[in-house]
Amino acid sequence: MEIQEIVSKQKEFFNTQKTKNLKFRKMYLEKLRYLILENENLLNEAIYKDFGKSKFDTFTTEISFILKDINFYLKNLNALAKPKKVRTNLSNQIGNSKIHSNPLGCILVIGAWNYPYQLSLSPIIAALAAGNCCILKPSEIAENTMKAMSKIINENFPPEYLYVYEGGIDETTELLKLKFDKIFFTGSTKVGKIIYKAAAEHLTPVTLELGGKSPVIITKDANLEVAAKRIIWGKFLNAGQTCVAPDYLLVEESIQEQFLEMLRNQIKEFKYEPDSEQYTRIINQKNFQRLIKLIDKEKIYFGGNYNEEKLYIEPTILTNITWEDDVMQEEIFGPILPVISFKSFNQTVNYLIELEKPLSAYLFTNNSEEKESFKQKLSFGGGCINDVVMHLGNDNLPFGGVGSSGMGNYHGKFGFETFSHQKPVLEKATWGEPNIKYPPYSEKKLSW
Ligand code: NAD
Repeated sequence: MEIQEIVSKQKEFFNTQKTKNLKFRKMYLEKLRYLILENENLLNEAIYKDFGKSKFDTFTTEISFILKDINFYLKNLNALAKPKKVRTNLSNQIGNSKIHSNPLGCILVIGAWNYPYQLSLSPIIAALAAGNCCILKPSEIAENTMKAMSKIINENFPPEYLYVYEGGIDETTELLKLKFDKIFFTGSTKVGKIIYKAAAEHLTPVTLELGGKSPVIITKDANLEVAAKRIIWGKFLNAGQTCVAPDYLLVEESIQEQFLEMLRNQIKEFKYEPDSEQYTRIINQKNFQRLIKLIDKEKIYFGGNYNEEKLYIEPTILTNITWEDDVMQEEIFGPILPVISFKSFNQTVNYLIELEKPLSAYLFTNNSEEKESFKQKLSFGGGCINDVVMHLGNDNLPFGGVGSSGMGNYHGKFGFETFSHQKPVLEKATWGEPNIKYPPYSEKKLSW
């Protein structure tokens, strides 16, 4: 079947109203959970082939994430889907007002390669929970994971309900000509703009989960040991190929030397060695070449070695970095960590205000004024104080960008809302109505 035909079949199927039934939604969420557990080996092998991601990392950052999402919606679906009663104003008496969470229809989810399962399936799970039909277009860059998802889903789900469409830029361009009820895109800001333009042709709403340069500020009032451990973990997880990874560090000058030493020791302790199965590889040659060009040999504080054949880049720390250096011009998206030192916290915050709004920002300090300033002055998608990355794991927090790092959000109840229309319905009684709104009008009615 051609993709155009599948999309039109999904629209027909949506109109049968079957997906609005909560039992139907739960049945397919349970089926997806079963398929993921049943095919865990296949999923692990595919991601290892794509970029050497370990079984442990795959479980903690991909599989467990997806299972958690399915379990959340299975548990909370009745409450989420239940119409919410709200107050009815005086002029609408006698009546009652409710907000109904209505599915949008046929959704297109376009995934990124860096967490190929999580970033493709997490929005799909929220969209199905909200009662939609979906087309998933995973990233072709992680080819094996794309094929694994397509095999598992297309062999077990009716295409008029959920279908995985394999392809790259050409296929996505064709797909974008079709009319969807929502497009949910995860990827770069550059491609996000292409998606937004194509969606505008059909007035299709979008959620854009994009990237950016996420800063980490470390002040002299921080617990440095904790900061070093958490930053090194968050930066080198997935070899830095994480949208919310610390992109660069801003370290208060007086503690820089001591802190750099701690960072170096922490990397050694984590044993990210060339043959370690625990350390992920770079996704492909193109990204590998892009990254090694960012390693300025004069500025290496730690690491800097790489192996082209294995697509391995050692965790690398660069110092004496200025805002003009190449490594500071674009999102790094790899295991290179530039460090810039600062003297004044306030000046640094004021400088960051002027930059593009990042997907995340992080602050390590125990100083309450600095914490307040960080929360109030800076605009970023989401972030942490005294940690990195972990805000993404709390489903009670919406996850998404702002400005050039994206629009809209998901996770937990926010994901359900992202794929629903909040439809207000006022229901009136056919008795007890004041006649004041109807003509003929009179002075007496106005003075009431
Ligand atoms: P990308 O933008 O290159 O690709 C994303 C998707 O867009 C892929 O499915 C790809 O096939 C498609 N695509 C690529 N070029 C296209 C074009 N010209 N027309 C139509 N479709 C096209 O991004 P990527 O390399 O897969 O991911 C890296 C980027 O994604 C980084 O910037 C990262 O920060 C960001 N990201 C954001 C999040 C988030 O949740 N906010 C998560 C992961 C990655």
